[in-house]
Amino acid sequence: MEFEVLENCSGFCPGVKRALRTAFDLRINYPHREIVILGQLVHNVQVSSQLKQRRIRTLDMEYDDLIRFMHLFQEEKTMYVYSAHGHFKDLEDEIDPTKSFLSDATCPFIKTINDELSTIKCDGKKIIYIGDKEHIEAIVSTRYLNSTNIQIVKTIDEINLNTIQQPIILINQSTYPIEDAIQKINESNFKYGLEIYNHFCPYLKLRIDNIIDTLHLYDVYFVVGSHNSSNANMIFNYLKSRNKETYLINRPDDYLDLDFRDERYIRKKAAIVSATSQDIDVCYTFRDILDDLW
Ligand code: SF4
Repeated sequence: MEFEVLENCSGFCPGVKRALRTAFDLRINYPHREIVILGQLVHNVQVSSQLKQRRIRTLDMEYDDLIRFMHLFQEEKTMYVYSAHGHFKDLEDEIDPTKSFLSDATCPFIKTINDELSTIKCDGKKIIYIGDKEHIEAIVSTRYLNSTNIQIVKTIDEINLNTIQQPIILINQSTYPIEDAIQKINESNFKYGLEIYNHFCPYLKLRIDNIIDTLHLYDVYFVVGSHNSSNANMIFNYLKSRNKETYLINRPDDYLDLDFRDERYIRKKAAIVSATSQDIDVCYTFRDILDDLW
């Protein structure tokens, strides 16, 4: 089996690059200051270890625990950094800016989304947010909406349209496609009106489009990314839905039990692509390991 890294489908997106630059530059400019990331900067074990090497701590906890933690344990003179996934006023309110320093690594695209969400008129409407209710982006973004009538779903199948008797505002997390939901509502007898805010990340869309262009060339795909990265899962699930043999790989020993020397893989080609929170160098490292193994 041959393994090939697809460069235009791998590596960091601009939002992640910016977040890393923000954190690493802080260490360069403030070599002796405590630096603490509020939540995971991005979902990536390699990045976590790079942060540790630079003595940058991560408060890796649920968003609401983070709020409580900062309320109780804010450290004086520490530099706190908001993660790439966004934050809401409830977290800002718990940080006394006269005691410590603040920096913001939020992805500009997510910032724009949240600004827009805060302006939507939600009265008398049902909000359906397509995303992962455990993910910090979904938790934070839905707090920008001026409504309590919000349902977060991973797929539109979780919604019973027959029970909704008011207009729907349909919104998606930046890593969740919205088209299926629009189609399902449009094809139903739903008659109360639909307002759509499609926030699918353009960089992720480009990555998917580039992968689509390669589907006729490769038999197997490896998606390099963390198991809790929503865009890694999105790319993985997309490839599975196209009936591609696909593996999500986060650590070099993830698939040691597989054997690609089996004769059904002879003369087959595997593509290595990555989540937008993965460095392309990691893809090449995995390629070398896979090459050595099989
Ligand atoms: S994938 Fe898109 S939304 Fe997410 S950090 Fe990158 S640029 Fe921002």
